[in-house]
Amino acid sequence: MGQEARTGPVLAVFAHPDDAEICAGGTLAKWAAAGREVHLLVLTNGDRGSLDPWRDRAELAATRAAETQAAGRILGLTSAHVMDVPDGELENTTEMREAVIRRIRMVRAETVVSCDPTAWFFEDRYYNHSDHRRAGEITLDAVFPGAGNPHYFAEHLSEGLDVREVHDVWLGWTNEPNHVEDVTGHFGTAIAALAAHASQVEEGIRYFQDELEREAREAGAKIGAEHAEGFRVLALD
Ligand SMILES: [Zn+2]
Repeated sequence: MGQEARTGPVLAVFAHPDDAEICAGGTLAKWAAAGREVHLLVLTNGDRGSLDPWRDRAELAATRAAETQAAGRILGLTSAHVMDVPDGELENTTEMREAVIRRIRMVRAETVVSCDPTAWFFEDRYYNHSDHRRAGEITLDAVFPGAGNPHYFAEHLSEGLDVREVHDVWLGWTNEPNHVEDVTGHFGTAIAALAAHASQVEEGIRYFQDELEREAREAGAKIGAEHAEGFRVLALD
């Protein structure tokens, strides 16, 4: 951090199809625009992302998978994968850690982005979704001690994958940010990508745009930038 900027592959791991845009969209768009490979792994299919009791969950999952691809094209992602785990049922299991470790090794991730699993409460307004906390936990456990150790999922090595030491982890949705990333010029891309999650912004993108813009301007004010995103960054090497 602060020293030379990283240029290697990035893997973003989030719970729901639209989390990446809301949590770290400006930063992911900025890195993609700078030529970094940015890959996304979504751990649940988002099939409970509706308050309509008649909405078919399988249909919603299919819709959200398509929206994730459309949003990924706007962000400039190299790849986006959505796992078929039901929304609201994410657990930190061996199977989930294996899936994340496999992606880290496959894309040769240098930087991993997720959300802070220790963030339970945000001011006195709301508390964090269990899937978000678990996504952060699964991701951290996959980065270390998993991805770099050949004795974790040794079958990957016989499939031709190599172990991978991740250099830095960026956790958004945190109450303990230690880094503010300037995303001026990329915030609009994040909002455009979020708008592609049409099933989630049926009331209109305006609310999200206003709320996220307020947060991005607040973070930006800390570093004299127009728009920024806050992270808890761990430099592992
Ligand atoms: Zn979410």
